[in-house]
Amino acid sequence: MSKRCFLIEASNQEATEGQIMTVVQSSASHPLYGDIVTIVGKNRVNDNPVIISAYSKDSCHLEAERPGIVVMPNSVEEVQKIVRLCSSTKTPIMPAGGRNGICGACLPRVTNAVMLDMINMNGIVNLDEDVMTITVEAGMRWAELIHRLDDKGYKLGFRGPYGGNAATVAGSVSINSMGYAASRFGPAPEGVVSLEVVLPNGEIVRTGSGWNPEAQIFTRYSSFADLTGIFLGDHGTLGVKTKVTFKIYPKAEFSTYIDLGYKNLKDATAAFLEIQKRGLTEELNCLLARESADTYFPGLLDSHPEINATIHCVIMETDKQLAERKVQIIRDIGLDLKGKDLGNFAAQIHWAEKFNEVQPMYNNGFWLNTCHLRPISRIPELMDRMRAIFKKYSLEKNGIKWIADALAVDRAYAAAWVTIFAPTKDKMELAEKAWNEMLDAAMETGGCPYWSGLLWEKRALEKVNDTFIQLYRTIKKSIDP
Ligand SMILES: Cc1cc2nc3c(=O)[nH]c(=O)nc-3n(C[C@H](O)[C@H](O)[C@H](O)COP(=O)(O)OP(=O)(O)OC[C@H]3O[C@@H](n4cnc5c(N)ncnc54)[C@H](O)[C@@H]3O)c2cc1C
Repeated sequence: MSKRCFLIEASNQEATEGQIMTVVQSSASHPLYGDIVTIVGKNRVNDNPVIISAYSKDSCHLEAERPGIVVMPNSVEEVQKIVRLCSSTKTPIMPAGGRNGICGACLPRVTNAVMLDMINMNGIVNLDEDVMTITVEAGMRWAELIHRLDDKGYKLGFRGPYGGNAATVAGSVSINSMGYAASRFGPAPEGVVSLEVVLPNGEIVRTGSGWNPEAQIFTRYSSFADLTGIFLGDHGTLGVKTKVTFKIYPKAEFSTYIDLGYKNLKDATAAFLEIQKRGLTEELNCLLARESADTYFPGLLDSHPEINATIHCVIMETDKQLAERKVQIIRDIGLDLKGKDLGNFAAQIHWAEKFNEVQPMYNNGFWLNTCHLRPISRIPELMDRMRAIFKKYSLEKNGIKWIADALAVDRAYAAAWVTIFAPTKDKMELAEKAWNEMLDAAMETGGCPYWSGLLWEKRALEKVNDTFIQLYRTIKKSIDP
């Protein structure tokens, strides 16, 4: 093994118990309660309705079945034992990370399921500087990983969803998350080199170069088909991820920023696409309406009454001149395409605030989101449909605010999120009607969701053809008979 490949900390937490669930006593009524206590002890398993209630939702309003019992494993061995127990008793099992999802993906669809809360498995297992990878346990949260890597002089590619204070790495790669630095590095799964997964029979598979016990974990593609890809975006249906290995990069010390303003969305979108195509930015956002810019960055457009859409660019390089040159090129492209230089305040705030930026928007009420992917060129079409829906349901008159944002991803597409906020419960029915039409409109105008879950699965399943779904079922059945 290379000298520069070292264990940072023990990967299982048997010495310290990690988080426990003893705030209320278990009811001990779930059929597997006693067996699970034998595996993890009494402190990390609970089936009291109070605990179950706390675990019955993720970060959105959608509801499914409640878990029957919740358990917090501290090690791969515990996960294996629980999975084997569930398999032998045919009890459904549901892995959960930060439960920060906003599509209900981590909620069971059947009664009595065992929910695995993975957040105690949150150690850094190995930083391998020779091959520029880091291996972490499944329950590591993005914010912590970013800070710990920064201390060592490195950065990740994709840096986590906007909810990355709570979201875990395994949750995000299981659900195709989009977020910070997707402009340069693509979605969450793109950064993954290898996974350790506990299969439904309790056996462990190590993907990427991990199939060779003599090899470092340095590549995703070698000798065989890409098994890593089977588990990415699987929403936890094909196994429990226990470790994730990511690519890392040298920390970039030099950042430049620019904000550009446009009179209309069509011009803004053309510039947004042109900048993204060139691969110049670490992070690239387009606020699709003046109202959104006012919500995110109050005051930004006060002295620019003609501006109706904005673009915010973050450039990060290890070389100062390169960072400066890139921002000049972007400025030239932006101005050539009818843009106005708005300075760099908003882009800087956006990058500096990171995971704290969108949380305050909960003050506007319940979120009803439509997060999905689409070609950048088809953003104006989406907004035309959305505005017609806002008008049809008189959202503004009813105090229902909205925000429309697009986050550039990999060359020419974007994660678009048009979210409405129901301020009070009595506005929820109206908001939900509008929202359902918005979800249809997103797909009818060529959008593809990145998550599935309660939010999208019905709509997505209506579109897939038999061959596609049969292949999916065959894979599931062969892994989980
Ligand atoms: C304020 C806010 C902002 C957000 N911004 C974004 C954003 O910009 N982009 C974005 O994509 N999302 C965003 N989200 C949603 C959320 O942050 C992401 O979906 C995130 O990736 C969820 O991670 P999690 O650990 O909470 O996963 P969970 O919600 O716990 O689970 C998600 C899925 O992963 C599966 N899973 C979890 N752990 C494992 C495991 N160990 N093995 C196998 N399967 C597992 C679950 O079964 C479930 O299907 C936001 C949410 C909030 C509240």
